[in-house]
Formats: sequence, C-alpha cells, structure tokens
Amino acid sequence: MRMAGKISVALLVLSFPSNPAIGNSGDRCTKLSALFRETGVTQARAEIAHPELVLEFPEGSPLPSKMVQQAEHVIHEVDEMLGGVLRPPKKLKLILSNRSEKAAALGANPAKGEMPLIYAPFQLESAGRVKHPIFSRAALAHEYGHILIHETFPDWIPGVYRKIERLKRKTLERLKGIGDETSEYNADLVRKRTLMLSADDPRTKELAALKKALDAAEMKYYEVSIYSSAYQELFADTVAVALEGDGKAIYRTLHRTGTKDPIKTKLANARDFTRKYSVSRWRATQKHVYFSPTRAYLWKHYLSNPEFRRQPQEIVRKLYLAIRREFLDLYSTGKLEKISPSDANRRMIEAIERQFAIVDHPQAAFTR
Ligand SMILES: [Zn+2]
Repeated sequence: MRMAGKISVALLVLSFPSNPAIGNSGDRCTKLSALFRETGVTQARAEIAHPELVLEFPEGSPLPSKMVQQAEHVIHEVDEMLGGVLRPPKKLKLILSNRSEKAAALGANPAKGEMPLIYAPFQLESAGRVKHPIFSRAALAHEYGHILIHETFPDWIPGVYRKIERLKRKTLERLKGIGDETSEYNADLVRKRTLMLSADDPRTKELAALKKALDAAEMKYYEVSIYSSAYQELFADTVAVALEGDGKAIYRTLHRTGTKDPIKTKLANARDFTRKYSVSRWRATQKHVYFSPTRAYLWKHYLSNPEFRRQPQEIVRKLYLAIRREFLDLYSTGKLEKISPSDANRRMIEAIERQFAIVDHPQAAFTR
C-alpha cells in the first residue's frame, strides 16, 4: 500500500441539515457516559468540549463574521455529533479563505509542539466557478475528521509518544535560564534559544542530542500518519457523511458539472457511499478511494440503517476502533506493504463487523 502525502489533504462537500441525532444530546450523553465508563476507552464528558479556534485569514482582511461562524458551527456540530467519543484538540488553527479549490488539514506532531491546523474556504472553487457555501460544510467536516483521528495517534504508538514527551521535558529543563521562562515546548522556540548559546557551552551539545532523538521519534509519528492515510480518508469521509446524513455528501462537494477530467470524475464517484463496489475486484490504490467498498458497506448497513443512523457517534466510534486495530495489525506485522486493496477492504469490513458484534460487551473490544 503506497500512499504519498504528508498528513492529509482533501477536498470535499454538502447539503441537508445536520443529522437529527444532534438535537437530543442530553439523553445520549448519559447513556454514552455509562458505556465509556465500562470500556475505559474514552473520557465521558458532561459537557461537549470544543477546540479553542485560532483564526487566520490568508487573504489579509478577516472574513465577515457570518462566514467565520459557518466554519465554527461545522466544527461544533461535529463535536456535538460525536459526543466526546474522540477528544478534540485543545487548540485548532483555522485558516479561512474566501474561496479556494482545496481544503486541507495538518495534524499536530507532538515532537514539534505546534497546534493542528485546517485550511478551508468559505466557497469551494472549481474551474473558475464557485460552489454554494453549503458544499463547504462536508469539506470542513472531513478535514476536522482528519484532525480528530490524528489526535488519537498517541494511543496507537504510546511508546513513541511517551518518549517524545520525555524528551520535550528534558529539553525544557536544559533551556532553563536561556531567554524567558517557558513551560510549553515548541521546536521553533527551542531552535532560537539554542542559538543564544555559545558553541562551547555544554548545553549546546546536550540540546543537539535531544533534538536528534526527537527528530527520530518524530519520523516514527510521520510514518504512522503516512501509512495510515487511506484509513484516515475513510474515517474523515465517514465523519462528513454522518454529519450531513447524506451518503453523497463528499461526492457532491467534489463533483464538477461538465468536467472533462475523467480521473477527477472517477475519484469523485468513488467517494459516493451510496454506490456499489465489488470487494473482490477492488484494485484502486489511491488513498481517497482505496476503501470505497468499505464506504458502501458502512452506508448500507449502518449510516443509512434506521437501527443505527441516529447514533452516528457509535458508528464513528466503532469505525475508529476497527481502524486502529486493523491498521496496527497490518502495520506491526509488516503486511501493510503487501496487502491488496481487495483484501484490505475485506479485512476492514470484517473488523467493523466485529465491533458491532460486540456491542453488548464493549470491553471485549479491547482484549486480544
Ligand atoms: Zn482527506
């Protein structure tokens, strides 16, 4: 499975009002709290947490508050829909433009000490034409989905994460007395402080060694992020589709009326959750459409199923657990490089099925 790209860049979608399940969050939270206490996986929250948004406007002057609010609402709606099943970041940089052909997300790498960021336009542009702002909703929800799953990476590779935290603490200790006091690690700041030392200061050598160790740990983080990119795309699309309650949400955002580009058309079509795809004959390796058969399976059996569709938080939570287990299984055994898209989809669907099969005994999901 070869996938290029750093963390995740995507464009996306759509329309209907938000999922009806978003409304009665009180009842749902109570039930979920009990469930989470049982599983111990997620921290139940009496109140839904939202990230503190740090706004940036690449075009210079700030966008009108109505435009900004639309973006903020999407982030908040996703948080409400998920009811805290995935922990939002404490801070999120939201770079808002008036119009653009693309939206993008960059998850935070703890070794850098920077906050995650999303770049999103108020209106998506395609071949010089702008789409209605309603189509930017699913695009932003998709990007936020990337951020949310990326924030869970410390649970995927806890050893690497602990090492990074330890190295950051040591680095901050070494920085004491150089410049102003700081309690928050930031790679850029460390670089500037280190430059304030003379070359023969013993701390220069120590800080260089710490940086080298942090760089190595950081690479491990990037590796997981890059190798799991198709899994992240599946997750991010599902967040957007669940929010909009529309299996065509991503497709509508990507679809370009009258386009002559057959590849773009194919890629947009293959992100339509309502289409049929053959698992056994699936050959697509592009990260955005690698899991199209799994998308269709999720839509047919859960996202559009009257039994489950009002519990998008449960669908997303189970998908997340299935992805984490499935990815780590393949990654840790070296099978990820060799597996075919067909087999990867078959395994992914089975992994999701297992999550739903253990709904009455959630703790079983965490024993191997
Ligand atoms: Zn994406």
